[in-house]
Amino acid sequence: MQHAIHLTHPSELKALLQRHGFSFSKSLGQNFLIDEGVLSRIVEAANPSQDTCALEIGPGAGTLTQQLAKNFKKAVAIEIDSALIPILEETMAEFENFTLIHKDVMEVELKALTEQEFGGAPFCVAANLPYYITTPIVMNLLESHLPVTDMTLMVQKEVAERMAAMPGSKNYGALSVAVQYYTQPSIVCKAEPHCFLPQPKVASTVIHLKVLSQPSVSVKDEKHFFKLVKSAFGQRRKTLLNALSKSPYLSVEKEKVESALAQMNLDSAIRGERLSLEEFARLSDLLCGI
Ligand code: SAM
Repeated sequence: MQHAIHLTHPSELKALLQRHGFSFSKSLGQNFLIDEGVLSRIVEAANPSQDTCALEIGPGAGTLTQQLAKNFKKAVAIEIDSALIPILEETMAEFENFTLIHKDVMEVELKALTEQEFGGAPFCVAANLPYYITTPIVMNLLESHLPVTDMTLMVQKEVAERMAAMPGSKNYGALSVAVQYYTQPSIVCKAEPHCFLPQPKVASTVIHLKVLSQPSVSVKDEKHFFKLVKSAFGQRRKTLLNALSKSPYLSVEKEKVESALAQMNLDSAIRGERLSLEEFARLSDLLCGI
């Protein structure tokens, strides 16, 4: 009997890929994880249980996918690259609780797909994401009102820092507010370029996002809140007062913003990056006209 291929062993992984005539695509963000330690940290952070299901985006050759199928009740993975399908069919052959979806994640109707695969039950997301679409994938998962419990994600180091950044820090921006509105982020571990085949140019970080049962702040008008946040960080060098009153996403007079800031005891020269989520929420409520 052929022995199982160790996907974290570079020589075994390369031999498998070569046998299938596979070559890496830079434009699809293909850097496969070959570090056993980082792999275990991802699985551990995903908090596996035989009662829950896992969704993976971009399974590659199946390194993390095998662990998800082993440790969860069911695993579903969405992969865009046709060249990886026969490889995954081979590496995942022994797992009956695994479904492969050959699609572009940006074109998948996630609500319908997860309802069909998981029967509406809560599920977690675990993935070494393709970096060129990290933010749209995460925002789509958060905004689609899916029963996601948590996400354990390998992302570019700077993106993880932005997701977890606190008000006033240089990395704090619209992504920090959006992620912290829906989740509680925590950094799991770093992954240097040598943890991947081929090595990426950038450093990576595994981040865990615990989805909150309710958003971290309550707002009267969620759409208005996000438009205000987008406007506040759109032009970082402007004061909040100018950024909001000149924003193409809002229609609010300067005097109204001035009076709302005064009501909140905030300096009229304050910049958006100093406001906490609670302050953005209060300001949005004061300006939304409801
Ligand atoms: N999970 C594997 C691992 O850790 O070794 C591979 C991770 S690799 C960073 C990203 C994966 O996402 C690749 O398999 C790539 O083909 C896939 N991918 C890229 N764009 C995608 C898209 N739009 N939809 C689905 N999968 C995509």
